[in-house]
Amino acid sequence: MTVGQERKLVTEIPGPRSVELMARVRRSVARGIGIALPVFVTEAGGGIVVDADGNQLIDLGSGIAVTNVGNAAPQVVSAVQEQVARFTHTCFMVTPYAGYLEVCEALNRITPGDHEKRSVLLNSGAEAVENAVKIARSHTRRNAVVVFDHGYHGRTNLTMAMTAKNAPYKDGFGPFAPEVYRVPTSYPYRDGLSGPEAAARAVASIEKYVGASNVACVVIEPIHGEGGFVVPAPGFLPAVAEWCRSAGVVFVADEIQTGFGRTGDLFACSHEGVVPDLITLAKGIAGGLPLAAVTGRAEIMDAPHVSGLGGTYGGNPVACAASLAAISMMEAEDLPARAREIGEIMLPALRDLAARHPIIGDVRGRGAMIAIELVTASGEPDPIATGEIARACHAEGMVVLTAGTYGNVLRFLPPLVMPPELLREALSLLAKVFDAR
Ligand SMILES: *Cc1c(COP(=O)(O)O)cnc(C)c1O
Repeated sequence: MTVGQERKLVTEIPGPRSVELMARVRRSVARGIGIALPVFVTEAGGGIVVDADGNQLIDLGSGIAVTNVGNAAPQVVSAVQEQVARFTHTCFMVTPYAGYLEVCEALNRITPGDHEKRSVLLNSGAEAVENAVKIARSHTRRNAVVVFDHGYHGRTNLTMAMTAKNAPYKDGFGPFAPEVYRVPTSYPYRDGLSGPEAAARAVASIEKYVGASNVACVVIEPIHGEGGFVVPAPGFLPAVAEWCRSAGVVFVADEIQTGFGRTGDLFACSHEGVVPDLITLAKGIAGGLPLAAVTGRAEIMDAPHVSGLGGTYGGNPVACAASLAAISMMEAEDLPARAREIGEIMLPALRDLAARHPIIGDVRGRGAMIAIELVTASGEPDPIATGEIARACHAEGMVVLTAGTYGNVLRFLPPLVMPPELLREALSLLAKVFDAR
């Protein structure tokens, strides 16, 4: 790793070079692309992002849960360099190559369940979700797709329909794909229900409003990501999965954000022993290169006819090489264990902070997927304070992200290779930001 693992501020955030580049962005990049922290990156590695002004920021975002193995991880870099010099593309559907096959074999091996599996590779998370729906519909010959409050599944037309939150994801972009039905989730901090109670409420909604025999698939994030790192109450996911089994409904776990070690297990479903029929994967799959997948039960995955699935770039050879390197790094270095250690450092520190600052209504998460929910004195969501605190963290040299249906969640997604000293420094800077309010 060439990037020095220390925070360093040499200008204000953003510094003059970044401000200058940002002015050009406004003239050339479509306004629809929002930017959380306008510092322009020149290098990144371990737990540090370096900007154009020479500032070194502590990375608590991992490019939205992507660089789990670290940015420009040396193993990923050399695998990519080797592959990119051999060939960059043929299209697997025209003339195949072993990298695609090996990624599918690896995913079939490491995802939950020891049944026979198949995989298909794609470019983005949204595309993986769309393909999971296609596959489930093809297998069941049913149409309806059930999703949950606070769910996020992407920005394409079908996945916008599946995503719960209107602004900014959907506003003005309709009409949306039909046959998508949203039911209540489990949100222990706000609904006070046990997992089985919340599952019974969801199942009752499905049966009343959709009808079990019309449902092709239920698609759920084991922890709602963009929706605010909402961890369901224990027993919720197993009960929903069990209902799917009994109703002949395909249970799809959208592990695009929770996957690849992020939550302290390779996949978040495994914390409660849930084995999904299909699992959608992206983000952490390839150390930062664009790749996505659907992996699942062979008899379901093989339902679509030959040539019914695919795409020009899906499973690009360079992205596959990166993925194989990232997956072997996760296994060799036991990165899920590193995620658990990150959680063990963060959760107690954040709970201490919450004890001193009543604005922190809830501290939650698993492994290296941790969040705090900010509320007013009466317990209402406080998105304004959340934005202010995020900006104050940025000014201190930390990349932090917000989330949540109400925009009142500060989320932390450090790379799993984050040095513990940097993480502790980030936590004390965060305490400083709260104490200064
Ligand atoms: C990010 C995300 C997606 C969409 O992935 P893209 O690669 O941005 O299309 C889908 N589902 C979940 C849970 C996500 O976090």
